[in-house]
Amino acid sequence: MDQTTFPELKSRIAGEVILPDSPEYNDLRHVMNGNGSPALIVRPRSSEDVAEAVRLAREYQLAVSIRSGGHSMMGLSTNDGGLVIDLAHFNTVDVIDPAQNRVRVGAGAKWGDVARTLAEYGLAISSGDTNSVGVGGLTLGGGIGWMVRKVGLTIDSLEAAEIVTADGRVLRVSEQEQPDLFWALRGGGGNFGVVTTFEFRAYPLQTVYGGMVIYDLADLETALPKWAEVMRAAPEELNSTAVIFPGFGPEMPPALMILLCYGGDDEAAANAAIRPLLELGTVKLQMIDRKPYYAMLEDAHPPVGVRAVGENGFVKTLNPGVLAALTANYGQPGTPMVQIRSLGGAMSRVDPAATAFAHRDYEAFVLAVTFVPLDASQEQADQARSAVWEPLKPFASGAYVNFLTDASDTSVATAYPAETYARLSRVKAAYDPENLFSRNHNIRPNGRGEMFR
Ligand SMILES: Cc1cc2nc3c(=O)[nH]c(=O)nc-3n(C[C@H](O)[C@H](O)[C@H](O)COP(=O)(O)OP(=O)(O)OC[C@H]3O[C@@H](n4cnc5c(N)ncnc54)[C@H](O)[C@@H]3O)c2cc1C
Repeated sequence: MDQTTFPELKSRIAGEVILPDSPEYNDLRHVMNGNGSPALIVRPRSSEDVAEAVRLAREYQLAVSIRSGGHSMMGLSTNDGGLVIDLAHFNTVDVIDPAQNRVRVGAGAKWGDVARTLAEYGLAISSGDTNSVGVGGLTLGGGIGWMVRKVGLTIDSLEAAEIVTADGRVLRVSEQEQPDLFWALRGGGGNFGVVTTFEFRAYPLQTVYGGMVIYDLADLETALPKWAEVMRAAPEELNSTAVIFPGFGPEMPPALMILLCYGGDDEAAANAAIRPLLELGTVKLQMIDRKPYYAMLEDAHPPVGVRAVGENGFVKTLNPGVLAALTANYGQPGTPMVQIRSLGGAMSRVDPAATAFAHRDYEAFVLAVTFVPLDASQEQADQARSAVWEPLKPFASGAYVNFLTDASDTSVATAYPAETYARLSRVKAAYDPENLFSRNHNIRPNGRGEMFR
């Protein structure tokens, strides 16, 4: 973009307009999983500002990246030569109706800050496991968090949102207002506009019991099936993730890590639920304590100089076949890291057609990740991605869009069943027919797999 347009842009946007020669540019051009050289970064302060930024993108035919927390697994919230709409100033957390536990949260808030603020009111929203992940990206993909079995996905607590659409309209969406768009926002990602705020129904929660137990990897073959059995019978307050960790150097040897969170105040009930997870094998380390919910969220420690590539999917039941595939193929140095999140409970009671996130009735979510150099070619990354998943492919179906590390039509197709995709495509055609918002796991406005432009 021609720098001479800068004064004009400045007068059109009340928020910040950051160009390559602005002092803040270098701090804002890159995101966690991707480097970028956008032509400009706009940090709006109002919905009208967002609408103006959207109009500007159309006028100058700029590619648009939307950024909330900047944790896109593929670095999609920056770009080269386009516009970044960075929602950092939309970061407020307000309890708007205390009687109904109704909370309005800015899209650019970070989940760690949301959890800390809501703790002051004795409330919580089930989000992810990481402080710095943004409200916008996580919510629009679904949100698998520490209370998923008790209260469902993050979108299952969503009651309304404000969105700026491709034509610059500012709309409120809910079950009653633009219900088709509200349906699409709950799992369809950033395809339909720029969401500025979300309204959630939060849950009363003061305390959790949580942490980690580390088992010797030698126990994997027996401990993993026991973990699955325990979680099958566990109360919905208990959520757990098993991590088959291949080790990083001599200080961090391979291990089976069981991460867990019991969401509730009752110590006796928490102990009874957690105890079986402490008896899966030879415990090498145990760190479980009573704490506020926000203390369950951790800081991200992305490895330097590499990028994550992986695959994910949903497993109907953790049957002997899938357990054997997990224990035989992962855990040794050099193998991918595998996360198995227990699901079920509240998440599964929602009709798969009720939201664009359709993978409801599964026992577990599985994610396998490896790392490639930052400058790895697309071909190398594709090969690594396919290799990490080979042993699990026969047992898994679907995919969670927020953990995809590939945005091809084929990958997007795994995230949405055919009927879901067709409905998403109709909503896309109604609200973004020219596919302005295409830097994402893209829903085509004219049906699956056909390039719009
Ligand atoms: C360290 C780490 C831990 C994670 N843990 C979890 C977890 O426990 N559970 C879970 O469910 N997911 C988890 N994720 C995945 C996470 O949900 C996605 O990466 C999500 O997209 C990040 O959201 P963000 O706002 O931080 O990202 P951004 O990079 O800002 O946004 C990602 C994409 O979402 C869309 N988007 C973002 N904000 C908006 C908006 N306001 N309006 C419209 N579109 C928007 C855009 O397409 C954008 O490219 C994790 C990711 C990381 C990196």
